[in-house]
Amino acid sequence: MVKTRRRLMIDGEDEAATGDEYFDELIASKQSDGIQVKPTNDYGKGVYADMDFKEGDLVLKDQMLVGMQHSSNKIDCLVCGCCFSFIGSIEIQIGRKLYLQGLGSPKDVCFNEKSELLMHEKLELPYSKKFPLPGVINCPGGCKEVYYCSKSCAQADWEFSHSLLCTGEGSKSLSQKALSKFIQHANETNDIFLLAAKAISCTILKYRKLKTTCDKEKDKKKNHISDVLGNRNFSLLLKSWKPLLMGYKRRWWDCIALPDDVDVSDEDSFRMQIKQLAFESLELLKAAILDEECLPLFSLEIYGHIIGMFELNNLDLVVATPVEDYFLYIDDLPEAEKKEINEITQPFLDALGEDYSVCCQGTAFFPLQSCMNHSCCPNAKAFKRDEDRDGQATILACKPIKRGEEITISYIDEELELEERRALLADYGFICKCPRCVEEEA
Ligand SMILES: [Zn+2]
Ligand SMILES: [Zn+2]
Ligand SMILES: [Zn+2]
Repeated sequence: MVKTRRRLMIDGEDEAATGDEYFDELIASKQSDGIQVKPTNDYGKGVYADMDFKEGDLVLKDQMLVGMQHSSNKIDCLVCGCCFSFIGSIEIQIGRKLYLQGLGSPKDVCFNEKSELLMHEKLELPYSKKFPLPGVINCPGGCKEVYYCSKSCAQADWEFSHSLLCTGEGSKSLSQKALSKFIQHANETNDIFLLAAKAISCTILKYRKLKTTCDKEKDKKKNHISDVLGNRNFSLLLKSWKPLLMGYKRRWWDCIALPDDVDVSDEDSFRMQIKQLAFESLELLKAAILDEECLPLFSLEIYGHIIGMFELNNLDLVVATPVEDYFLYIDDLPEAEKKEINEITQPFLDALGEDYSVCCQGTAFFPLQSCMNHSCCPNAKAFKRDEDRDGQATILACKPIKRGEEITISYIDEELELEERRALLADYGFICKCPRCVEEEA
C-alpha cells in the first residue's frame, strides 16, 4: 500500500463556503434561530440578524467548544472543570482561597485555623445557605486537579478531553510523567498551551468515537479494503477537526503582538523564540498523547494555528463569583442585625481585601461569537446577566437591530480615541472601517 502524506487544510478562508452547513447546524442545535452566519465582503464571515431585536434582547447564548480557567485563577475560584459554575459552598470558596494564599495574619494562628475549618466546611457562615452551590465531585481519573459540579459534567469532560489529559491513575495518556512535564512547561510559559492540548485531545477522542461507530457499520457490510479505510479515517479526522478549523486565522508566532519592551529591530528573533517555545511545548505534548492515526494534528503548523486562534478571537471566559453576592447581601442587612453578623464575617472580608469579588477567569473558544466582527459602534455586547452563571457566552443587543443587519461587538474598549483603538486592533490584524472610524478619520 502506498502511504501518502496528508496535511489537514489549515486555511480557514477556503473553508468559508463549506462552512455554511456547519454553522446552520450549529445555530439549529442552539435553537438561536434569530441569527445567521454568512460570508462578508471584508472579513471572511459575519453574523447577521434573522429577526428584529430590541435593545437589551438576548441575541445568542454560545456554548464554548473548548475552554479553560487560567492557572493563576485556580486559587481564587473553585469552579466546575466542564461548565465553569462555582461549586462547593460559600465557606469552601472563602476558606480555600484564604488558606491557599496564606492570607490573613501570620500572627493570628487562630484566624488561619478558622480559614482551614471553613475550607473543610466545619465552620458555617451566617446566611450562606441563601447562596447554595452544587457539591464538589472528584475527577473519575483520580487526578485531584479538576473538580466538577455533577457526575454528568465529570463524565462529559472525561469523554470530551480530560481522559487523555488527566494526570491521575485512570489516565488514558501514554505517560502520566510526560503529561505532567507538559503541564508544568505550560504553567511556566503560557497556559494557552493547556487549551491547545484540550483542543487536540477532544479532536482525537471525537475521531476515535466516529471510527468506532463506522467500524460497527463496516462489520455488517464486511468490505474492508485498507486503502478505502485509510481515506475514510482521514475524512473522519477532518470531520472531527472541523469545528476548530472554522476558527482558524493566523499562526501564533505571526500574530502575537510585539511586547513594548522588545525593539522593532529584534522582531524576527522574538517571533523565532515564540515559535521555538511552541515547538518545545508540542514535543512534550507528543510524548504524552501522540496518536499515530491523528498524526496531522501534531504538526507545528496546526499547533501554531490553534494557539493563534485563541489569541486572535475575543474569547474571555468570565463567571461572576457568588462570594461577592454573599458579602453584598450581608452589607444590605438591617443595621442592628448587620452589626452582629459583621463580627463573624468582617474578618474574612478584611483578609480577602479587594480580591473578594474576583471572578472565574479563563479563555475559551465560542464558535458563533468568534464569527462576530468588530465595530467601534457595535450593536451588541457580551454581557452576563444575573442568571448567567456558567461558561456560556451571552450576547445582548445594545441597540435595536433590524433583520438582515450585521451583528457586531467591540473587541476593545470602544471609549478610546481613534489612534488608541487602531493600535489595539492591530493585534487582531485589521484596520477598522466601521462608520465611526470612517467619520473620525474624515
Ligand atoms: Zn458543571
Ligand atoms: Zn483527572
Ligand atoms: Zn471602528
